[in-house]
Amino acid sequence: MGSSEPRLVLLGRQGAGKGTQSIRLAEHYGVIHVSTGDMFRTQATQGTAFGLEAKRYMDAGDLVPDEIVVGVIEESMVPGGPLGGGFVLDGFPRTLQQARELDRVIAGDPIDLVIDLDVPREIVFDRIAGRRVCEECQRVYHVNLRPENDWVCDTCGGAVRQRDDDTEDAVERRLELYERETVPIVDYYRARGLLTVVDGVGPGDEVFERLVKVCVEQLT
Ligand code: AMP
Repeated sequence: MGSSEPRLVLLGRQGAGKGTQSIRLAEHYGVIHVSTGDMFRTQATQGTAFGLEAKRYMDAGDLVPDEIVVGVIEESMVPGGPLGGGFVLDGFPRTLQQARELDRVIAGDPIDLVIDLDVPREIVFDRIAGRRVCEECQRVYHVNLRPENDWVCDTCGGAVRQRDDDTEDAVERRLELYERETVPIVDYYRARGLLTVVDGVGPGDEVFERLVKVCVEQLT
């Protein structure tokens, strides 16, 4: 590891718990959590032209085109920008093209470790289709634990709803896209000795312990 701040990438199917675990890892190491999905959702809520364009793809369960995604990341990576130090990338890269572009953008200070958070398809399908998210603080709930459709967030009082891209059709499509577009990245990083696979099934705290353990082992 080049500096004391790790530069990590978390891969995993949608619903593998990547978002939650990335935030925890970023806090643990005192580095920035970067989620391209969150960036797009914020822009869409603000109603910017760019955000609304991204939202069209997201709602259909499609990937946002590489040029748009790379442009957003590139802006964050400029010297002195928020991604000059350590980070946890969550949801980026998602295609081989994005992985190559990421290498180009951070050429002088490469990634330290890529973690594939592994959760089988059947499990994530149920998790995502039943997921409800607070529009304000992004806290995640599951319908199995709360039978009503829309409710108020226990943490901040915001409205808790189903994300527009969490419908069953969109989830099915995103899981197919993951196999086709994102799985090749796993091999790309494995070939460079950067990849480690972590079992993402089980209680969140246990999964987090597994993640920290591999980071301690690998980031030396
Ligand atoms: P996420 O919150 O990571 O599940 O992302 C939600 C949606 O945002 C995805 O289903 C895509 O439509 C879009 N998105 C997020 N990150 C990327 C990316 N790196 N490349 C393409 N589309 C993305």
